[in-house]
Amino acid sequence: MPRFLKSPVPAAQVTAARADVADRVRAILDDIRERGDEAVRQYSEKFDNWSPGSFRLSAGEIERIVAGVPETVLDDIRFVQQQVRTFAQAQRDSLLDVEIETLPGVRLGHRHVPVSAAGAYVPGGRYPLTASAHMTIVTAKVAGVPRVAACTPPIRGEIPAATVAAMHLAGADEIYLLGGVQAVAALAVGTETIGSVPMLAGPGNAYVAEAKRQLFGEVGIDLFAGPTEILVIADEHADPFVVAVDLLSQAEHGPDSPAVLVTTSEELGREVERHVERLLPGMPTKDFAEPAWRDHGEIVVTDTLDEAFALADTYASEHVEVLTENPRQALTKMRDYGALFLGEGTCVSYGDKVIGTNHVLPTRGAARYTGGLWVGKYLKTVTHQEVTDTASSALLGEVCGRAARVELFEGHARSGDVRAAKYGGKALPW
Ligand code: NAD
Repeated sequence: MPRFLKSPVPAAQVTAARADVADRVRAILDDIRERGDEAVRQYSEKFDNWSPGSFRLSAGEIERIVAGVPETVLDDIRFVQQQVRTFAQAQRDSLLDVEIETLPGVRLGHRHVPVSAAGAYVPGGRYPLTASAHMTIVTAKVAGVPRVAACTPPIRGEIPAATVAAMHLAGADEIYLLGGVQAVAALAVGTETIGSVPMLAGPGNAYVAEAKRQLFGEVGIDLFAGPTEILVIADEHADPFVVAVDLLSQAEHGPDSPAVLVTTSEELGREVERHVERLLPGMPTKDFAEPAWRDHGEIVVTDTLDEAFALADTYASEHVEVLTENPRQALTKMRDYGALFLGEGTCVSYGDKVIGTNHVLPTRGAARYTGGLWVGKYLKTVTHQEVTDTASSALLGEVCGRAARVELFEGHARSGDVRAAKYGGKALPW
């Protein structure tokens, strides 16, 4: 039986907080639907103290902003975007169009067609999340999306220059300095100055993620990618200092970011907790990391590694670091996670910032039904069919007539009947 060395806040408190966010988001969405740009500007002023002449950056403004970014920062952006592009391209290449012949002259196929436009949300309330530009925009462009409209908020009233540079270098077609619910709402429903898109992608805080969730159906969304989560599976071979550092690396995202350790070693669990308590006071980002750890930090001890893998699956965590003697075991032992980080040589921060797998990943249990953002999310798999053999069309027409009548669809049945008659010489039954 798993034993808690450190427990999280009660679930009821978390549920109440989520209901509050859902109500606030609904009110903002309704208002933006009704009042368009005027409402967008009002919320941008209210939440971000930001009301420029135009939210969209002109080509000249982008050029000036990029020119002010140090060359080393631009080089790193180019390096990381190349890693993301290489992996995304390999994933795109793995998706084959299909066309097969199932009966003589009967061809069935599918093609992967990019959406006509996508909105890429690049978060920036607490930190300028430059890397999210690589993840959302580069991936959309590899998928072949012709129009990518990208939004990011100002950060404490300043333009996030490196993020704008990353958006530009990634190939964004439109860049807006606009954040939060107002940004995703404007992209989804369209305003007088911002053209709507059929699909939204990108991570964000609880408000942004909830706005995307509520807009789903009206537009497509990549996935539910809210406040970051980390879960570490460790055995007695893991280095407790490294485990503690990695738990805090994700807790610093925000006070609502869960950080969970599942370990087979009670001794390691206690040592990790000591390291975390020692490290927290000195962290420059402790204002976020400390409440995250106090309220959403967990340490759980299991008797066996199999039990640890099974328990980890029930969390369906966004990120799972496996710091055990044989980390690749997780590939076959686990099912529900956003991304796996196998062994001490890598870590969630590599995935977040540099390595090339996409960092936009499912949270709040969404990993039970989806993986993270990838080219496939920007593609629609659409089918086609053609019958060039008259005998096959007559055969299908006969079966169609019978099958449709079982469902009481006389109109459908007659479409089959006319082909059975025309190509198969059958008499029309009506
Ligand atoms: P953000 O850009 O997501 O949100 C900032 C916006 O929130 C602001 O522009 C503001 O308009 C809005 N906002 C703030 N307070 C509000 C309120 N009370 N009501 C309505 N709107 C409000 O940036 P952030 O806040 O720094 O959050 C980024 C989030 O993205 C973090 O939670 C991080 O964990 C998450 N993230 C998730 C993934 C993933 O793949 N799941 C990846 C990276 C980051």
